[in-house]
Amino acid sequence: PSSPDWAAVRADFPVLTRQVHGKPLIYFDSANTGQKPAAVIEAVDDFYRRHNANVSRAVHALGSEATEAYEGARAKLARFLNVRTDELVLCSGTTFAINLVAYSWALPRLQPGDAIVLTRMEHHANIVPWQLVAQRTGATIRVAEIDERGQLDLPQLYGLLTPEVKLLALTHVSNVLGTVNPVREICREARKRGIVTLVDGSQAAPHRPLDVAAIGCDFYAVTGHKMSGPTGTGALWARREHLDAMPPFVGGGEMIKEVRFEGTVFADGPRKFEAGTPNIAGFVGLGAAVDYLSALGMAQVDAREQELLAHFNAALAEVPGLRIFGQAQEKAAVVSFLIEGAHAHDLATLLDLEGVAIRSGHHCAHPLMQHFGVPATCRASLAYYNTHEEIDAFVAALHKVRKLLA
Ligand code: PMP
Repeated sequence: PSSPDWAAVRADFPVLTRQVHGKPLIYFDSANTGQKPAAVIEAVDDFYRRHNANVSRAVHALGSEATEAYEGARAKLARFLNVRTDELVLCSGTTFAINLVAYSWALPRLQPGDAIVLTRMEHHANIVPWQLVAQRTGATIRVAEIDERGQLDLPQLYGLLTPEVKLLALTHVSNVLGTVNPVREICREARKRGIVTLVDGSQAAPHRPLDVAAIGCDFYAVTGHKMSGPTGTGALWARREHLDAMPPFVGGGEMIKEVRFEGTVFADGPRKFEAGTPNIAGFVGLGAAVDYLSALGMAQVDAREQELLAHFNAALAEVPGLRIFGQAQEKAAVVSFLIEGAHAHDLATLLDLEGVAIRSGHHCAHPLMQHFGVPATCRASLAYYNTHEEIDAFVAALHKVRKLLA
């Protein structure tokens, strides 16, 4: 398929026409949350204007339209991830998805002597739930380390996968380093040893063609707000055998077949984990986002972002005193950096005055910061709607603020 007209694509994003401090906005914080095309904003607006009703509770026309829209979003997302609709639990995002596995799958199963393997580059959302489970079960946590390029040390990781290990939870793409982990190979090694795997797809789903079924993991978590969709949307894919064996995590309406005071019969499949009224409008928006991304083609999105990253790296090479964290062979368009003599927050604050939005801080990855021996980094993260001109303007702004700080 021919490449999309990227200038036209960019024009689909209303917020990108904004000025900030009198300068055109340069939004380089998409790893934090992605911007939304008009199609997504309009889908949410249209839902509230014309269809708003609760799902599954009403026989009236609006009720069935809302249910159809919500289930339609599940079907679209399932197709996008290449998974079965009846294995896809809709939830508020990756944080909830991982906690669901922690509380519903791991908590009843793990015992003293068991171990969970995580990696050095995990987001706190893929660390803290496991610590809570470990504290309550007596299981221990082992850490797979990274090399100087910010890639997983695979022999060390495989060495950790002894018979005590019940779960390996790792990110597909690092939100700080951009490292793309070879999750297919890693999950194959884990599976050979009977170890269940969870892959955090937060930073992969927005950027690359995905075939979750082919990865061979047991659980895969995604978050809608990084995929050009609304906040408060996301999903957990799980093998049906796991879903059937897992007790519900949150109880309430919508997740039952029959409730008696003597006991409750739960709904089958994903529904068992979707108690209460979901973020219906949000999922309508996520359905529109998935349509939007699919129309662009994820291979095209990936190629565009790789081309932007190559330009970005070349331009950054001219900035004196710049230290880049993470130089993986396979890398998403995320660049964490520091400039000698300048604090990350000062850099980000001065860049904001130039209209540039980047994140500074620990990026919810304290153990990774500890590894590098820094309290914080700056992180510029790109998406397909960014431009070469923005990269040049960003690097010019960086030269300017460097002179003020360094
Ligand atoms: N994991 C990774 C790798 C992330 O980048 C993020 C978001 N910063 C999360 C988990 C948390 O996802 P959510 O925003 O859905 O809670």
